[in-house]
Amino acid sequence: MKEIQLSVPNLELFDVTVPFSATFPVWPGDPAVEWRPLSQMAAGSWCNVTQLVFPTHCCTHVDPPRHFIADGPTMSDLPIERWVGPCQVIAIDESVTTIESKDLIAAGFEPGTERLILKTRNSDKWNNQPYVFETDFAALSTDAARWVVEQGIKLVGIDYLSFELFNGDGATHRMLLGNDVIAVEGLDLRKIEPGPYLLLCMPLKIQDGDGAPARVVLARQS
Ligand SMILES: [Zn+2]
Repeated sequence: MKEIQLSVPNLELFDVTVPFSATFPVWPGDPAVEWRPLSQMAAGSWCNVTQLVFPTHCCTHVDPPRHFIADGPTMSDLPIERWVGPCQVIAIDESVTTIESKDLIAAGFEPGTERLILKTRNSDKWNNQPYVFETDFAALSTDAARWVVEQGIKLVGIDYLSFELFNGDGATHRMLLGNDVIAVEGLDLRKIEPGPYLLLCMPLKIQDGDGAPARVVLARQS
């Protein structure tokens, strides 16, 4: 019988997922992730099983349009090809909190990019232990979000809990999600150099979900 040979190129993998935990900072007003042991070997059970209770937008997670668009596509509507594919990581200047289109251009944005990952000063927040929710994170202005749509970008990634500023009114979310641009949030990009990568984002396929935690990996040829 002929053996099946899979040829896998030499890929260097960077796991940019923050561990899913009860200590992850949650959006103010959201409940923290809750761990409810259902069966514990330490207590005499023959296996360990835990019930997790968590908001759909906690830890490293994704936003499908349904998050802000009442009849927008959900987690079960979007094909996996939307979450996986070539991407460009750009580094936004550390002095920037409100990211404008000029900051994206200055960071070396290349036209034709379909998946854009923003490394900002936010990634340093993952050094601050224990985590507390920090409101001064860098994120896109609504004008920059409009520019992103005009560039034909279909996915935006960022290294804190939202691509919209903390005091935003939802306009930046509606601009992206309302124009079929999906998002990945809560990335840990501390070890990532800017450049081209393969994005492997695997969110939970929650039926009709308005968001989902994800395991996210950036890969490049070593
Ligand atoms: Zn979200």
